[in-house]
Amino acid sequence: MQGMKITDVTAYALKAPVETETCFSQAWISLRSSVIIRIDTDEGVTGWGESLCHGGQPPEMAKVIITSWLKELVIGRDPFDVEVLWEEMYNRTRPVGQAGIMINAISGVDIALWDIIGKALRQPIHRLIGGAFRKEVKAYATGFYRSRDFTFEKAAGEARGYLAQGFRAFKLKVGFGVEEDIAYIHAMREAAGPDICLMADANSAYNAAAARRILYECRDAKLHFFEEPLAPEDIEGYKELKTLSSTYIAAGEQIFGKTGFRRWIAGRALDILQPDLCSSGGITELKKIAALAQAYNTMLIPHVWGSGIGLAASLQFLAAIPPAPLCLRPLQPMLEYDQSEHPFRQDLIFGAIRMTDGFVKIPEEPGIGVGVNEDVIRRFSS
Ligand code: CA
Repeated sequence: MQGMKITDVTAYALKAPVETETCFSQAWISLRSSVIIRIDTDEGVTGWGESLCHGGQPPEMAKVIITSWLKELVIGRDPFDVEVLWEEMYNRTRPVGQAGIMINAISGVDIALWDIIGKALRQPIHRLIGGAFRKEVKAYATGFYRSRDFTFEKAAGEARGYLAQGFRAFKLKVGFGVEEDIAYIHAMREAAGPDICLMADANSAYNAAAARRILYECRDAKLHFFEEPLAPEDIEGYKELKTLSSTYIAAGEQIFGKTGFRRWIAGRALDILQPDLCSSGGITELKKIAALAQAYNTMLIPHVWGSGIGLAASLQFLAAIPPAPLCLRPLQPMLEYDQSEHPFRQDLIFGAIRMTDGFVKIPEEPGIGVGVNEDVIRRFSS
């Protein structure tokens, strides 16, 4: 069989202002942005991928890395050599890469290559990376970003809205002061009722001492996991916290690649690993991170915060994450389903990603499993 050849790589920097400015513990969000990657081939198969824009990250940065460097490394090559291409992109960019935005850019290219492979073989990606451990995945709502008129009562109203939609799990934004967070977590447990899976995300706002105080004072609120209590540089702090609480300690959106995750996994610093498919390495690298996690019997629940393209691709990966360990009722990964305002999250894709009774089905169409609306790309790209 003659190989396919990559003929073009295009990156689009998409951004749109939100109607209501909100914040998390680090910054105010006035824009939602994404880098969308299109890869064309000589056989007419086109693939789509996404590089995540972390809160406030300008989409132009990953775009320029892709168009001025990664593009020349993959043009003329066979998209089926996806792992070879990943290693070559990583190796060539290593002096200024290894983590952060370089892996972020490589992730988007990798997802587009897998979309091509899936479309060429007429299979959804999850069927090409080992198959489906699950056909649907429990979704948890990421929301509770704070507008200028934030009150606990307003947040309780948001929680009731998620419950009415069918969510049985949601994640609070915390990191706004130890005493306030303690009161807030208790108030939100009261609003959610005892059976809802409640989580909290501090976006690295604390040191280990402050995080320990929150965990101890919130024991009764039974948080399922506490995400990014600390900065990602503080691996020792994470190890310390992990032994102090029955609440799982989670992080990973600021950790990159298998070598980045290696010391966290081997060092047993986290209960739950949260690599982002569109930022921590793409399908190729997250499969390897998942294998490391499995070898250490550590849970993996990917971080998801991008547009519909990233969401669809993340569902493909979620289908194929092996429970560690496997049993009749294993601990299952969940879909982080961002409910905060995003002007083009759903419009960007054809093919519904819908939640029913708290679960989202894995798309079964080829590649990432959804089509892409290019009119929407043109409307929001600069
Ligand atoms: Ca987070």
